[in-house]
Amino acid sequence: MTTLKAVRGTRDLLPAETGLWNRIEATARSVFERYNFGEIRTPVFEDTALFSRGVGEETDIVSKEMYTWEDRARAQSEKTQQLTLRPENTAGVVRAYIEHKLGETGQLQKLYYIGPQFRRERPQKGRYRQFSQIGAEVIGPVSAGSESPLRDAEVLEMLSTLLDELGISGWTLKINSVGSASDRPKYIETLKAALAPIVSQMCVDCQRRAVTNPLRVLDCKVPEDQPFIDALPRIADSLDEDSKAHFAAVCAALDAASVPYTRDHRLVRGLDYYTRTTFEFTHGGLGAQNALLGGGRYDGLSELIGGPKAPGIGFAMGEDRLVLTLQAVEAAKAELADAYIAPLGEAQNAAALELARELRRSQPDRPGLRIELGDGSFRLKKSFEAADKVARTIVMLGEDEAKSGILTVKDFASGVQSKVARVELAAFLLSSRNKY
Ligand code: ATP
Ligand code: MG
Repeated sequence: MTTLKAVRGTRDLLPAETGLWNRIEATARSVFERYNFGEIRTPVFEDTALFSRGVGEETDIVSKEMYTWEDRARAQSEKTQQLTLRPENTAGVVRAYIEHKLGETGQLQKLYYIGPQFRRERPQKGRYRQFSQIGAEVIGPVSAGSESPLRDAEVLEMLSTLLDELGISGWTLKINSVGSASDRPKYIETLKAALAPIVSQMCVDCQRRAVTNPLRVLDCKVPEDQPFIDALPRIADSLDEDSKAHFAAVCAALDAASVPYTRDHRLVRGLDYYTRTTFEFTHGGLGAQNALLGGGRYDGLSELIGGPKAPGIGFAMGEDRLVLTLQAVEAAKAELADAYIAPLGEAQNAAALELARELRRSQPDRPGLRIELGDGSFRLKKSFEAADKVARTIVMLGEDEAKSGILTVKDFASGVQSKVARVELAAFLLSSRNKY
């Protein structure tokens, strides 16, 4: 008999891994609660029409990635239905918002979800057929302020906090505006006109997209096509005054909150429902699948699926990709020494050796403290540079420190500098090792 295996693109998560998944989910829940979001859980399968209307027939998701089947009627009172495993969760959340008349509360609805999504993609690292998303939506009637650029900025600021609390540093936030429902057709016409004379020199996918969905040309990753794409007209030049003002207000609020971002004129995202703000957080450690999360504003989505006007903004993060990023962070951390001892001046060399010996011997049971010893002939800057490459922290030992027994310790990841008594130094270094 052939042995049965997990289906291509799906995976088992064993206890060695689920700890990290649970930690990520707990951190996300804790951040969402502080921003006053509540959890929503929608069904894993829905009427196919929800996605074909909500996400859009011409998107990759709907045109080739959905798991759809015909669900036979079980009784005469039932109809045979087209059902689909959800490829994303925003459409389901908006359907629930409409179905439960949440708009009638007059309040903004701030909802988050964590759960599996399904897309028939080519499986590779960071890309699976069943994957998990952590997402949130802010949606409500216009009178509740759902169109305000402050909502966009708050969501982005929350994401920067969440990534920081997860221990993911080195992310990049890219934002753009795709304009209102009336800006887009104008831009698409401009784009079509610009593509017409050049598209025959581009890849076959672009030739098809130029006809079916010209915005998608901007997503093309084929290297030879890039010079053509860079020269195409920008959507920023097709925005009306309201959309421009909205985008400027989002940027101003991000600046005020010190959330770093860059504008990416090509960021139009793969789902048709987006209006105005679109964004993506990427991380260099992920390789080709570098998007940690994506999202944007969807002012017309509710009406597309038969609901009242209910502007909103939301995002979905790939939990599988958060796990990969954190595993890489942890692997890199595991190779770092716990401390680099920097004697301040050659007169402190002997004292530094004594301190290193004390720390190295303090934990004879594995895993003990891993200590790198610098040299008092180095200038402070050189010690810092050397320490930053090989250790998590630097411990400075000068004449004052030697006399007082109080050492200055700087943690490179957090940037925090602390004064620590020599007798407590081993315990301090051990406890800071396990913070994630
Ligand atoms: P990509 O460009 O990577 O295909 P996307 O534009 O299809 O992403 P969204 O639909 O916006 O992605 O989904 C949001 C996030 O969900 C992505 O940024 C990514 O982290 C994650 N994601 C999407 N598809 C997959 C997948 N097949 N496997 C794992 N994670 C995924
Ligand atoms: Mg995709």
